[in-house]
Amino acid sequence: MNPITPISTVDLHCHSSVSDGTLTPTEVVERAHKNGVEMLALTDHDNTDGLREAQACADQLGLQLIPGVEISTSWSDRLFHVVGLGIDSAHQPLQDGLVILREQRVGRAEKIADRLHKAGIEGTLERATELTEGGMITRTHFARVLLERGLGKDMRHIFKHYLVSGKPGYVKMTWADLSEAVRWIHEAGGVAVLAHPLRYQLTGSWLRKVLTAFSGFGGDAIEVVCGSHTAQENMTCAGYAARYQLKGSVGSDFHDPSIRYISLGRLAALPADIEPVWKHW
Ligand code: AMP
Ligand code: MN
Ligand code: MN
Ligand code: MN
Repeated sequence: MNPITPISTVDLHCHSSVSDGTLTPTEVVERAHKNGVEMLALTDHDNTDGLREAQACADQLGLQLIPGVEISTSWSDRLFHVVGLGIDSAHQPLQDGLVILREQRVGRAEKIADRLHKAGIEGTLERATELTEGGMITRTHFARVLLERGLGKDMRHIFKHYLVSGKPGYVKMTWADLSEAVRWIHEAGGVAVLAHPLRYQLTGSWLRKVLTAFSGFGGDAIEVVCGSHTAQENMTCAGYAARYQLKGSVGSDFHDPSIRYISLGRLAALPADIEPVWKHW
């Protein structure tokens, strides 16, 4: 990051051990506070179970916690993540939808383990389940197992060789419809943010198609500033936000303090011409 870039005190995307983060909700909030975050959203994958604990810690520290979730969705046979912010997590249709996604994850985990077993890698479901410490199972947990076994040099390498399309541990999934996820979030009183728009490995034409669809479904914002972005990528996303009249969000997608290139908070500020999704909070 350019040293003169202003730093945001907002971080609206991160994970705890309730999904695939390594810190508990309390530890996430404490770390955010230490890093100068004043407004934080905890956005675990398909799960809001960490929000109560996070809220209790945020109240003690005087940090503003925005209740969030990151929903796994499908559109045109592709995976997209939609972050819901400012949701009422007690809203029943939202929770009913999330329960189904978590059930799908359990079935997928068994299939991933079967496929890895056929590729000669045994006992991954048992170890991955242990690593969840009672939380939800994700591909990240399988990746950690394969990393422990020395099957790759880092998480990126493991994903690339084992857990993505065409690789031994990949299982194709159909998640919630993109439009359905936007509807659950809106009905729960929240705003819908398309997460990390540049991480889906889409061509420009596909990215424009999904932004048109998302905006048509009533999507509110896209992540403009992400933990993994260069300054140039922030500007590219600012351009998309302007073009599709979407608000902008700022989120690290922090999971794990040992991954040094993504910190919690300490993100660049949103470009001044983009309306912040948190403007009225
Ligand atoms: P799942 O929702 O169970 O399919 O797992 C998706 C999660 O895996 C994402 O939220 C990321 O945390 C992680 N992930 C996906 N691709 C990669 C990658 N290339 N390197 C590291 N982590 C990844
Ligand atoms: Mn994740
Ligand atoms: Mn994501
Ligand atoms: Mn995320």
